[in-house]
Formats: sequence, C-alpha cells, structure tokens
Amino acid sequence: MSIVVNNVSKLYGEQHALDKVSFEVKKGEVVGFLGPNGAGKSTMMKIITCYIPPTEGDVSVCGLDIWNDSLELRKKVGYLSEANPLYYDMYVREFLEFIAGIHKIKDKKKRIDEVIAMTHLELEQHKKIAALSRGYKQRVGLAQALIHDPEVLILDEPTTGLDPNQLVEIRELIKKCGKTKTVLLSTHVMQEVEAMCDRVIIINKGSIVADAKIHELQDAVTSLKKKKDSKELSIEEIFHILTK
Ligand code: ADP
Ligand code: MG
Repeated sequence: MSIVVNNVSKLYGEQHALDKVSFEVKKGEVVGFLGPNGAGKSTMMKIITCYIPPTEGDVSVCGLDIWNDSLELRKKVGYLSEANPLYYDMYVREFLEFIAGIHKIKDKKKRIDEVIAMTHLELEQHKKIAALSRGYKQRVGLAQALIHDPEVLILDEPTTGLDPNQLVEIRELIKKCGKTKTVLLSTHVMQEVEAMCDRVIIINKGSIVADAKIHELQDAVTSLKKKKDSKELSIEEIFHILTK
C-alpha cells in the first residue's frame, strides 16, 4: 500500500476540517480527490506530506509513518501544493538547482535536464519564474515535485486556472507520471477525474462520502437513487448528489 490514512481528524479551533477520514491508495494507482471548496482536500494533502500534523489519527506513505519517519517519508513524496509557491526572482534552472540541492541529488545537472525535458521547459529554463505564464509556472511546480523521482505524487489542484491547451498538456504529463508512480490529485473538474484517474474519493465537509472506481460509483448511486435511466449519470451529477 502506498498511502494509508487511518481515522484522521483535523481541528482548526472548533472547526472539524477533517473528521475521522480513512482511505488507502495502492502502489501505482491514480486517485482523484474530489470535493467542493472547503471540503478538506488541501488539509488532507498537507497532512500526508507532513506539512501539518493531524489532530488525531495515523498516516503512512510507503510504509513510513508521519509521526516517526517524517524526513524519510518526505523523500518518497513529490508535492505540488495548491498555492504552488515559487521564488519569482529566481531563474527556472536556478530554482530547480536549489530544490535539487535540498534533496541532495548527486548529479544535479543531469537530473535537472531530465525534469526540464519531462515538463517541456526547455525554452523557458533561462527565464525568470516571474516572467512565465501560469501554465509554465505550474510546470515548474511539477518539475520540483518530480526532481527526486518520488514514488508518490500529491498534486493539489494542478490544473486550476490553466487555459484549455495548457490543461491538455498538464493532464498528459500527469497521466504519464501515473504510469510509474502513485498519484493522488485534487480537482474540481469532473472530466479530469474521468480522463486521468483509476479511482475517485469524494470528500464533503471533512468526511468521505464516496470511495470507488468510477463505474462502481455510478452503480452505487444508481441503486441509491433508483433512477430508471441513471446508468447515464455523469460523474458531475454524482458529485452533486453526494455533496449537496
Ligand atoms: P479544500 O482544499 O477542500 O478547499 P481545505 O482543506 O483548504 O479545503 O479547508 C477545509 C476547511 O478548513 C475550510 O473550512 C477552511 O476554511 C479550513 N481551514 C483550512 N486551513 C485553515 C487554517 N490554517 N486555519 C483555520 N481554518 C482552516
Ligand atoms: Mg484546497
């Protein structure tokens, strides 16, 4: 099992951002993490990547535990956070060198060339990050998440705010990564889940309301609604039913 989340709760003051959440992600799976704004997706991802601790519960990634093996765990995980924090005054290559240094990568130049090729940043590599369009900034965010060749990728809304062409390119890239890595990605875009994911976990108000393969979810909602023609329910309609 790549990711095991066991009974995780997170309280911000009085607010339960997560309430006894449990799920597992198998090695090599690409799982879509869906939910309306404020559902708890980013909070869950920050906990899995050891950016914040849960109030209670346990998480392990590749058998490493967030409480006891946090440094080792981070080596296994590539994380593109929602805000995609980048140093805008750095040049693309310079930034990737900085990140490669943090990961103590031995042959920095070789690996930076590889991730630049992977994310198609060849033409932008000598530009300042501030000068890049949003889609290219997102690629830099992905490049830094991939640089240490992590087993697990946690991508928090990697396609939000991209134009249709950039969307297609970034989706392709994530799909490619999904062939060799375990990926958990959050999104609001239903087609994205259908296009990229093996499975979907839907979270609403801090609790999981669905965790299934897409066709299983359709069957489950069909029997729930007992709708005659509901075989045609789109993942978008299922999302509305489960999170309204
Ligand atoms: P999502 O990513 O699904 O939109 P979040 O995990 O960002 O949801 O947020 C879940 C809930 O927790 C929201 O109501 C949000 O306002 C609240 N929240 C998130 N971070 C903090 C924080 N640092 N302090 C207080 N409340 C927070
Ligand atoms: Mg979020």
